[in-house]
Amino acid sequence: MEKIGFVGLGIMGSPMAKNLLKAGYSLAVYDIVSEKIDDVVKAGAQACSSNKEVAENSEIVITMLPNSPEVKEAVLGADGVLDGAGSGTILVDMSSIAPLASKEVSEKAKEKGVVVLDAPVSGGEPKAVDGTLAIMVGGPQETFDKVKDILSVMGASVTLVGEIGSGNMTKLANQIIVALNITAMSEAMVLAAKAGVDSEKVFQAIRGGLAGSTVLDAKMPLVLEGNFKPGFRIELHIKDLANALETAHEVGVPVPLSGAVMEVMQALKVDGKGADDHGGIIQFYEKLAKVEVRRQ
Ligand code: NAD
Repeated sequence: MEKIGFVGLGIMGSPMAKNLLKAGYSLAVYDIVSEKIDDVVKAGAQACSSNKEVAENSEIVITMLPNSPEVKEAVLGADGVLDGAGSGTILVDMSSIAPLASKEVSEKAKEKGVVVLDAPVSGGEPKAVDGTLAIMVGGPQETFDKVKDILSVMGASVTLVGEIGSGNMTKLANQIIVALNITAMSEAMVLAAKAGVDSEKVFQAIRGGLAGSTVLDAKMPLVLEGNFKPGFRIELHIKDLANALETAHEVGVPVPLSGAVMEVMQALKVDGKGADDHGGIIQFYEKLAKVEVRRQ
């Protein structure tokens, strides 16, 4: 079995790493926050003191970090993955970052004989825990074939979509769909609640029809409890929409609805709700309409 390194042990990285340990892989791990390392070491991982040390101890390095700057810092920076990686190492970056950043990291890695795949995920913390994420991958077919079994430990679907950067391009499309879905759900549910119809009954009545969705089923039960603990933080979704808007404009695609939802999320951030789960987008509408969508 290949020796794997795992960098970034946050909400997603920690359960993903634990699933690899459960599947029998040996794991060298690092996070800039030491308590996050301790938790995964208790589950059987080997602690490292830098990203460089992780790479020195691994044939395949997986990164699960917030955004492009953190990935560049962890991979290209001082004591980074590339400082410790030997030629032939595979770097699988599972963070959601700008497609252009994936290409930049890949170019720099190539100079050291390291091949990069961008492999962001969808499904959130529950699917990270269950090992049932949807994983969208960009990079060479032969490298994909080498890591597919490892990715399958963390995901229910693992799809090679194209060359490096394509995984994150797919993820941006995914994030636009999710953001607009949650916002549509919020607008509609606040309308029904203000008009006096029971929110739980509205949810149950529509979930089997055309308006039903994975988003509705995942987020409405939490909204009805008033539970906005992340999950996926609004500020991380702002990061994804910023990457989506920038990429769309570079490519020459106007994305008016994404722009509008970005401003909704910005308003929530100003209102102190940036660290809430993105299901908390509904609070924007609740405040405007002076009504709460909760179980009665
Ligand atoms: P998180 O903030 O909980 O975890 C990120 C971890 O990276 C933190 O523990 C942080 O300390 C660590 N880190 C930052 N810089 C580092 C560095 N230079 N070296 C080592 N470690 C470093 O974030 P998360 O929710 O786990 O998300 C990670 C990625 O997955 C993001 O790109 C996010 O958009 C994506 N994602 C998240 C979800 C979700 O539901 N949370 C779902 C799908 C995709």
